Amino acid sequence: MTTRTDTLVIGAGAAGLFCALRWAEHGSVTLVEAGPDAGNPLPRWGLYDYVLPEAHYYRYTDSGTGQAIPQGRGLGGGSTVNSAAALRGQPWCYDGWQVPGWSWADCLEGFRAIESDQQYPDAAYHGADGLIPITRLEPGPLDAAVFDWCGTAGYPPADDHNAPGALGYGVWTTNRRDGGRWGTWAGVVPAARRAGVRICPDTAAGRLVFDGTRCTGADVTGPDGPERITAGRVIVCAGAYGSPALLMRSGIGPEPALARLGAEPVSVLPGVGANLMDHPWCLLDVDVTDPALIEARPVSGALLRYELDAARGEHVEAEIFPWQTRPYDLASPPTRVSFTAALMAPRSRGRFELTPAGPELHVGHLAADADAADMAEIVATTAELLESLAKDGLITIGEDAWWRPGGDLAAACRATVSSYHHHSGTCRMGDPGAPGTVVGPDLAVLGTSGLSVADSSVMPVIPRANTNLASMMIGFRSGDAIPA
Ligand SMILES: Cc1cc2nc3c(=O)[nH]c(=O)nc-3n(C[C@H](O)[C@H](O)[C@H](O)COP(=O)(O)OP(=O)(O)OC[C@H]3O[C@@H](n4cnc5c(N)ncnc54)[C@H](O)[C@@H]3O)c2cc1C
Repeated sequence: MTTRTDTLVIGAGAAGLFCALRWAEHGSVTLVEAGPDAGNPLPRWGLYDYVLPEAHYYRYTDSGTGQAIPQGRGLGGGSTVNSAAALRGQPWCYDGWQVPGWSWADCLEGFRAIESDQQYPDAAYHGADGLIPITRLEPGPLDAAVFDWCGTAGYPPADDHNAPGALGYGVWTTNRRDGGRWGTWAGVVPAARRAGVRICPDTAAGRLVFDGTRCTGADVTGPDGPERITAGRVIVCAGAYGSPALLMRSGIGPEPALARLGAEPVSVLPGVGANLMDHPWCLLDVDVTDPALIEARPVSGALLRYELDAARGEHVEAEIFPWQTRPYDLASPPTRVSFTAALMAPRSRGRFELTPAGPELHVGHLAADADAADMAEIVATTAELLESLAKDGLITIGEDAWWRPGGDLAAACRATVSSYHHHSGTCRMGDPGAPGTVVGPDLAVLGTSGLSVADSSVMPVIPRANTNLASMMIGFRSGDAIPA
């Protein structure tokens, strides 16, 4: 069967749904999504649970460490399975991209357009009527104790973590309505349907179709079998792993990878799959002495952000925050709290490869010595906070806690580090003449026409923030960046 659409969007995640909505302003849009649509109205678990049915995940493995790497699948993509932490990143993140049209001033317009900020709708840098509600929840007792320590330690308060340049302590900014996660499934699907977007769940794009180097559509497989969808333009929004995988299967990528896959080269681009980035985190698990200390705010309470050695001028940003482990690991006791120490400006880079046997991920957390040293510093600061909370009788720390003094803390961090789930950068946007660039500032895939990528994979450098809002912003701004 063959169908025709003006714009074909592949992947209905954080970026893809905003992308489809914007392109509906210009004609017909078909949006294919490999995973399920769990229904409308949304089931309660879709809003409030942190362990979702298995159909909503891809399960990757880091080939270097054997660690599990989950990714979102189904309407909303990662924004359906995530924790709804909603940070934008700092102005210098986007200015540092040095890509025309993607400065902080440019991206801010996108951030404002997608949000309706519940506490600061009138601030010049916030939006009041976008589809994603941004809110700050009441802190619980453990959060209040963390704030006390932060104040005593000399960190400034930050009432709004999404104010440009905000650093310090305050409650998380989150994308929630009535306490439930409000990602692109809840927030954008209804608007996209009203705008006439044809949304096809359970439909995976196998490969892109070309006439020479012009992309003319994709071969997909859905509930009714194979279908060829021809399109005036194709926009790939399949995420940090799905997008490079689809490009490589379709003949766009490094020459050796295409040869291994037996894919006829359409555009040889060594950057596809390279530049893989993620924020590394180390978890310091403790127990509260009274479950009530954490159950008032199991997730999205206190957040401390600061820069390591600000004098270096490199904006090496850290996050420290507690969360109750049980919502994510149902076997955990209700007293268990994971304190996160996260490095938000990592230098380490990994790579994604596609082989005939399947995907290979080499994330490379803390591969750079400077990252390991920085992580040790963040963990040491987190440990100081924990010792203070223990002294006040709020938590207990295991005798054998991995971060306690006595060894090489950087090595201990390397042995413990895992993923904050912010995979990005595998189809890097940049100067078309620079090595490693996959898409230009207009999101067009180099060496092709009619084909763009618009999602977390185009980020040239990972922002100092959780990547959901930035991915939505990229999807939204694809409506401006790609010539209609
Ligand atoms: C467990 C977890 C927790 C997270 N927590 C947070 C958080 O609290 N805050 C935050 O800011 N960020 C968080 N993130 C990261 C954030 O969700 C992602 O950065 C964001 O979703 C990336 O958006 P995207 O559009 O690039 O990709 P995705 O949202 O992953 O969307 C890609 C979509 O494409 C589909 N797809 C892939 N291949 C194909 C194909 N061949 N055909 C059709 N469809 C395809 C996928 O099924 C998926 O739905 C988390 C991520 C995970 C996995």
